Formats: sequence, structure tokens, C-alpha cells
Amino acid sequence: MDRLEPHPVTGGPSTSPATPGGGWPGDPASAATPVARTAARVRRLASSAADVAELQARISVCRACPRLVRWRESVAREGRRAAFADQPYWGRPGPSFGDPEAEVLLVGLAPAANGTNRTGRMFTGDSSGDFLWAALHRTGWAALPTSVGAGDGQRLEGMRVVAAVRCAPPGNAPTGAERATCAPWLARDVELALPHLRVVLCLGGIAWDAALGAARDLGWEVPRPKPRFGHAAEVPLRTPSGQVVRLVGCYHVSPHNTFTKRLTPAMLDEVLAGLRG
Ligand code: SF4
Repeated sequence: MDRLEPHPVTGGPSTSPATPGGGWPGDPASAATPVARTAARVRRLASSAADVAELQARISVCRACPRLVRWRESVAREGRRAAFADQPYWGRPGPSFGDPEAEVLLVGLAPAANGTNRTGRMFTGDSSGDFLWAALHRTGWAALPTSVGAGDGQRLEGMRVVAAVRCAPPGNAPTGAERATCAPWLARDVELALPHLRVVLCLGGIAWDAALGAARDLGWEVPRPKPRFGHAAEVPLRTPSGQVVRLVGCYHVSPHNTFTKRLTPAMLDEVLAGLRG
């Protein structure tokens, strides 16, 4: 049996990985949340999720990619970074974080093994997230300049953070099959956001491709040939009802890009400020 350890923000006890409904602060799931174990079941559970809360609960217990389930849980149990060895790890797929009535969906690539996979919140617990949250706060989207985990008071106004793939992959590299299996979760997140949605912001080319795939799956008009990803690239996408959603690209906030200054704070601020209506 997994042992109980205190959550680093709230002090509440949790296993690693967190048991659905077992007390992890902000856990969207319960013991009764249905679990997807196949790609077909992901499709069914995604399309039948009634609202954002139900969708995130289902995402957070998904087990459809065996390689990723093994990896996320092995990191949570015995592969922790030394600095976090005494705290519990979420060890489950990352649910979205932010405003359920967001006008902007920010799409990342996938959780980091010692970031979201540890904290349970998107872009939280690693240097990529630190870079992003500081910019989100500077540009007025986030209430606080840092994100630690549930219970820290962080809030997003008008924005919700999602990802192309919801489980931490080895080497930050999901396979094509894993990306395809996870795609219906993103498509449903986009669909549920649609009544308020103006912009889909994609951090990196994989997020860009995933967002375009979701748009196609939802029957939106997507230009051909496929629009190319680039920093500050922008393409209008039209839904079947005629609603126009801006697809915006931004270099990913990975250390590879930020340490080399390929992406600077000023560049990120400019993109984030440009999302305002
Ligand atoms: Fe489920 Fe997506 Fe994680 Fe695969 S990557 S197990 S589809 S949440």
C-alpha cells in the first residue's frame, strides 16, 4: 500500500500517486469517476463529459496509455527528484487549470515528470512554469507571479491551461500513438470552451498541431495547406456556426528556449498582451 505523506501546501495527507477522491486538494475526481483504459473509451468519455468539471475529473484518472501510466507512477513512487523526495506526487494526468469560462485556452505540450506530475497543476513546479507564471502575472492573466500547487491562491482570469498530452512522457516525448489517444480530451476541452472562446494560444509546434487537429475533429474550417507554427504566428479558424477563433503560436517556455534567449520575457509578454480582445 502507498504510504501517506503531507501535501507541501495544505499539509493534508496523500498517497503517491494521489488516490482519486483520496484527499489531494483540488482533486477533480472521486472514487466513482469512470476510468478510460483504451483509446475508444477516451473518445466515449470525452464526448459524453457534460461540462469542464466532469471532463477534468475523467481526464485525471485516465489510464489509456500503458507506457505513460507506468512512467508517471514510477516517478511518483520511486523516481522523485531528490529535492522533492519527502513530498507526495500527484502521479496522474494533469487536469486543466483556470477559468472554466475562459476566452483564451493556453495549450502546452505535456506535464513534466517533476513538475505537473508532482504538483497536479499545469506548468507548476519546474522552471518552464516559473517563466510562464511570471509572464501571466505581468500581463494581468494570473493573480500571482508564482504557482506552487492547490491551496496557494493562484487564479487565472479569462484563461484556462490545457495540454496536447496530459501525462508526463519519458524524455518529454510522447509517441504519435499517445498523442492520438489523448487528442479527444483536448477536442472536448476546446468544444466546451467554445461559448466564450476567442483565442487558442499554442506553446510550441506539438501544441499547435494538436489544436489544429482538435479544430478539424470539431468540423472547423482549417486552411490548407496546414498553417505553419511560428512565434507570434496567427491564423483565424472558423467554426461551423461562423464563430472565428484566433489560433496563435508562441515558442514553448522550455529551458531550451528560455536559457538560450530564443524566447525572452519581453517576447512572451508581447504575445500574452496581444491576446486581449
Ligand atoms: Fe490518458 Fe492522455 Fe494520459 Fe494517455 S496521455 S493515459 S490518453 S490522459
